[in-house]
Amino acid sequence: MMASLVQVDGLTKLFGGVRALDGLSFTVEAGEWIAIMGPSGSGKTTLINILGGLDTPTSGRAVVENVDVARLDEGGLTRYRADKVGFIFQQFHLVPYLTAVENVMLAQYFHSTTDEGEAREALKRVGLADRVEHLPSQLSGGEQQRVAVARALINHPKIILADEPTGNLDEENERIVIDLIRELHTAGHTILMVTHDASIAQLADRRIELAHGRLVQVTTFTAEDEERFDHLLEQIWICGEEGVPAQLERVRSRGVMDAMRMVGRLSDRGLVEVGDGVVALTPRGENRARDVIRRHRLAERLFTDTFAIVGSEADTHACKFEHIISPELEQKICTFLGHPGTCPHGNPIPAGTCCPRNGN
Ligand code: ADP
Ligand code: MG
Repeated sequence: MMASLVQVDGLTKLFGGVRALDGLSFTVEAGEWIAIMGPSGSGKTTLINILGGLDTPTSGRAVVENVDVARLDEGGLTRYRADKVGFIFQQFHLVPYLTAVENVMLAQYFHSTTDEGEAREALKRVGLADRVEHLPSQLSGGEQQRVAVARALINHPKIILADEPTGNLDEENERIVIDLIRELHTAGHTILMVTHDASIAQLADRRIELAHGRLVQVTTFTAEDEERFDHLLEQIWICGEEGVPAQLERVRSRGVMDAMRMVGRLSDRGLVEVGDGVVALTPRGENRARDVIRRHRLAERLFTDTFAIVGSEADTHACKFEHIISPELEQKICTFLGHPGTCPHGNPIPAGTCCPRNGN
């Protein structure tokens, strides 16, 4: 199994008595766009700085592409920052006495060799073709940030680290910068972006919310994603019924997200655990899987017994129906059907709170 692109593991950072990060753990898959949210002082900037090799953790690890960033020496860090990551800060951090194109070329210099044509092309991409010879002081805030974006992109970094990239921008420039970030995401870059703006965070694949240096919430999945998660959890449940280990190769994902990325997300949410290429349900995952299986099999029973819909038709409908049955409806159906113990294929229907076999 390929490791996640970013693995944050028990990351802790103390500033004197202040715990900026407090045992933070999460993973990011290649190509994901993560929005990092949380109140001021919750550790967002500290996290970005450690991931970018600008700061070191007190304990725990930040592993990017299998490299523990804190273990790099000076030379390694310079290479890491030049090759792997592109920074976009709230303060644009442009060198004041260099022109726009020279600022971009500076990033090229640290990476390999300068190429003015390419640097000009990058500025053109961010809509600044006619500003290449301007000094930062001659540019508006939005334009300076676009130079910073061009600079972040020039070396085609795998990961873009953005700390409130639109924090100092007017609406128009915010839209331009966000559109650029969207393009980067579509092109396959991995993006970790700190933002306070819920509508911007909504664009990301996932939101990670910090409070006091800890993870309080991971959200933002579409209803479709949730259905795919359910589907995967069902498969793992069925493996359990059949007494076979749920090997990663065996679980299949529907839709665009591949099974491994889905499993990674389920694991982030504490629904599954992965070890030795086998996926296992956690108690929470088991509860959710049991509920989905129950709804699915009750639906099949209903379609078969009541509407004489049989075979794969019943299954197809059950796959859709299982996501729209509310707990009340589920209990009504179960009661109506006389609390059936098995689906039409003879597979067990887990007992619900309404079922006499559950002691009710
Ligand atoms: P955020 O970006 O979420 O606003 P930060 O990561 O900047 O939060 O800060 C987290 C906590 O660590 C805050 O309490 C902040 O005051 C403290 N902190 C951050 N950097 C330093 C520093 N260099 N020295 C001392 N305390 C710091
Ligand atoms: Mg900050």
